Amino acid sequence: MTSYRDFHRRSIENPEAFWGAEAQRIDWQTPFELVLDRSNPPFARWFIGGRTNLCHNAVDRHLAERAQQNALVYVSTETGIERRYTYAELHAEINRMAAVMRSLGVKRGDVVLLYLPMIPEALFAMLACARLGAIHSVVFGGFAAPNLATRIDDAKPVLIVTADAGARGGKVIDYAPLIDEALARATHKTPRVLLIDRQLAPERLNARYLVAYEPLREQFFNAHVPCEWLESNEPSYVLYTSGTTGKPKGVQRDVGGYAVALAASMEHIFQGKPGDTMFTASDVGWVVGHSYIVYAPLIAGLTTVMYEGTPIRPDGGIWWRLVEQHKINLMFTAPTALRVLKKQDPALLKKADLSSLRALFLAGEPLDEPTAAWIADALGKPVIDNYWQTETGWPMLAIPRGVETLPTKLGSPGVPSAGFNLTLRNELTGEACAPGEKGVLTLGYPLPPGCMSTVWGDPSRFVSTYWSSIPNQQAYSTFDWGVQDEDGYVTILGRTDDVINVAGHRLGTREIEEALSSHAAVAEVAVVGVTDAVKGQVAMAFVVLRGAQPDADPSERARLEAELATTVDRQLGSIARPARVVVVSMLPKTRSGKLLRRAIAALAEGREPGDLPTIEDPAALQLVREALGEVGKA
Ligand code: AMP
Repeated sequence: MTSYRDFHRRSIENPEAFWGAEAQRIDWQTPFELVLDRSNPPFARWFIGGRTNLCHNAVDRHLAERAQQNALVYVSTETGIERRYTYAELHAEINRMAAVMRSLGVKRGDVVLLYLPMIPEALFAMLACARLGAIHSVVFGGFAAPNLATRIDDAKPVLIVTADAGARGGKVIDYAPLIDEALARATHKTPRVLLIDRQLAPERLNARYLVAYEPLREQFFNAHVPCEWLESNEPSYVLYTSGTTGKPKGVQRDVGGYAVALAASMEHIFQGKPGDTMFTASDVGWVVGHSYIVYAPLIAGLTTVMYEGTPIRPDGGIWWRLVEQHKINLMFTAPTALRVLKKQDPALLKKADLSSLRALFLAGEPLDEPTAAWIADALGKPVIDNYWQTETGWPMLAIPRGVETLPTKLGSPGVPSAGFNLTLRNELTGEACAPGEKGVLTLGYPLPPGCMSTVWGDPSRFVSTYWSSIPNQQAYSTFDWGVQDEDGYVTILGRTDDVINVAGHRLGTREIEEALSSHAAVAEVAVVGVTDAVKGQVAMAFVVLRGAQPDADPSERARLEAELATTVDRQLGSIARPARVVVVSMLPKTRSGKLLRRAIAALAEGREPGDLPTIEDPAALQLVREALGEVGKA
């Protein structure tokens, strides 16, 4: 069997040969003329001149062999609805959706914004866009109206597809007021909103711009819309992600490179074979949902399980029962979900027949060792941590399968995947780190297929954000710290920037600070990530008020703290809500006025911040300690 080292070395030394061969995993309507265009670094273009289509590769090409195999199993424990779609039925639904979109004017190169809960129509809509050559931009259904408006203004969609409501933990979230407010706030005027009516929310969207999906679906019931053959480098989608500035970045992905990378990852990392069933418990609003609920399992001919609900309703055994009922072979989720499940009755896991399950994949945030050990022991199956980002689209670090099977090492997501030229570098000199030495995880040029092609509408930001922070090197920064051992295994040690990771979701502390600053009572604010036993990290906000001082009436202060948390809910969505808002009279800053967020985070975690030679006024630290009620520890 090929050794991992040889396999990885081949992918780095000769990417053209390696990816040229991998490209045979997908269908091309017109073959590519060139595997890789390196003429304009740091941009890389893959499979130049090749024409293909993501929907064709995910659905149409399987019809000959697996038309009657389930393509999608949908389970909602929120509504009690369970549906199955064979590849033939999925094909028909996507054609209907594509015909409806086309009748509303959507054409190749247009952006369609999807603001949808976890319903089958979300998957149909993504693939319908792919079919038409339109660019989808899925906005997570938990984001609040101002957040949605920012994305509307940046993506400039010709159509928004939404639903009457989302549902989570038994609570219905009415989308109508959110959409109304987002459309009113956005300067870009989206001509149409297509509404999937789940009959969950009694209130209806403003009828002026609303188009109901169901009657149009009936009208186009037997429609056939041909796949639009796109040049490999045309955009397939834009997915927004948080960074260090308040303005989210639109990660733009291509068509051919993405299809090839996902097909390769299903072989070399996930070992998903046609006919297998994969359950990725995430949301279509995140990159894991794009890649491993929708595109990769379908491209590889699997059955994908799409789940709406929490892991603990109706009880903590629900996911394990799904494994049994649907004979799930591969499962993928975030460590947070397991930390939640760990608190449930362990008998629930033992009760289900998990014999179909071959492996559990985890990503999105650090996998702590106790959780890793617990789940590996409880399942008795391989538990494979893998590390990646919205930008890369598929795992950068994992335990490869199929080639020589490497052992897992507790605390490490594994070794670099094929195509990722990963080096840990010193952040001040740019030099490569020795084994065991802490550095920034960087990638060499070119990024492999499937990674972001650019920042939507702002290519200069792709260069200035990702390719300019490592001195003396042309290197892509992941903005993660790590350390690599002698065997090539990397351990992730947290972000180098002001991004925090709450329950596997990336949040920019600056975005939360901007939301809080919009409140009239706030003069200054610092948001930091603080370790949390279940969510990995939670946001904590330290606020300096205008005028009124914090030692005022405690009940008044509690009221204000709650009001500030609600402000974040309204601006960004409840996932960004700080776990605590602490009113302080001064924030620690450097003499040049930079917030010392790391020092504040240390205090919030009950640690001492260490030496701070640049601090403007050390008294600020004591004021934060006092506000935290931590004076005794000083
Ligand atoms: P996102 O783009 O939202 O998926 O977030 C990506 C970030 O999540 C990475 O830059 C890491 O900071 C973190 N992350 C993702 N996967 C892992 C993992 N397996 N272990 C540690 N951190 C991870």
